[in-house]
Amino acid sequence: MKHAMDTELLTALGSALVQGSLTDPELLRQTDGGPVERILPEVNVVKIGGQSIIDRGRKAVFPLIDEVVRNLPRHQMLLGTGAGTRARHAYSVGLDLGMPTGVLSVLGTFVSMQNARMLHYLLARHGVPFIEPAQFAQLPLYLAERRAAIFFAMPPYTFWQQNPAVGRIPPHRTDTGAYLVSEVFGARSMIFVKDEDGLYTADPKKDRDAKWIPKITVAELLAMDLQDVVVERAVLELMRNARLQRSIRVINGLVPGNLTRALEGEDVGTLISAD
Ligand code: ADP
Ligand code: MG
Repeated sequence: MKHAMDTELLTALGSALVQGSLTDPELLRQTDGGPVERILPEVNVVKIGGQSIIDRGRKAVFPLIDEVVRNLPRHQMLLGTGAGTRARHAYSVGLDLGMPTGVLSVLGTFVSMQNARMLHYLLARHGVPFIEPAQFAQLPLYLAERRAAIFFAMPPYTFWQQNPAVGRIPPHRTDTGAYLVSEVFGARSMIFVKDEDGLYTADPKKDRDAKWIPKITVAELLAMDLQDVVVERAVLELMRNARLQRSIRVINGLVPGNLTRALEGEDVGTLISAD
């Protein structure tokens, strides 16, 4: 049967896609032929930790805000906010009331949004806008004009969040949302700002013998099978299929100058790479 679309107008891949099955692995392999464009190659996605930074209030947040402002002339930044302690409380109440993962995801999204709103008002006098997912289309203009924008880093799946293998906490939270934004835009860097010097062999808050790891690959990290890690595990999983954002950096945002160093591409904190 002749297909409705004139196949002569299509590339070989085009006609294979129009006529073939999208579950055929051979056809899917062919779709990875050309390079992926970097949409915003100058922007640095910076995730500001919820529990690790914002919940600490003024003494942690104000110096970081100052550092962001000082870097605006040199670096474009897309600032994503974590959720933190209030989200954990919301999760606990939601769990007690029998809420499914998708509803917990809605709750976490709003806490992450509260944090984004507060950072936004602190940066408002510098003209930095807060954007919701629907406004990402205006991001190029905001970055060109103001050099930065703020978003809530929870991925906007809300009810469509997948269930985790174990338990009921949404597996894709704000580390994941920020990372995915940096991947899709081919951002210059993905910097996670937290309250430890990067990745350790164990949570340094619980294990005094934990050793700092300056640099590691995702494969090495997964092979170590650590009891706990410094970023959401979903980020590591997603990095295995990364097309553009092949590395992430985790820095201690409580140390003045660290964000600047990371933006300058210096070795600070831990670099986790897919290669
Ligand atoms: P956020 O504020 O961005 O949500 P989290 O509090 O979820 O950040 O994650 C950062 C925390 O992860 C650190 O404060 C640290 O206590 C903890 N952590 C757990 N395991 C590790 C590890 N292996 N290396 C470093 N930090 C770890
Ligand atoms: Mg967290």
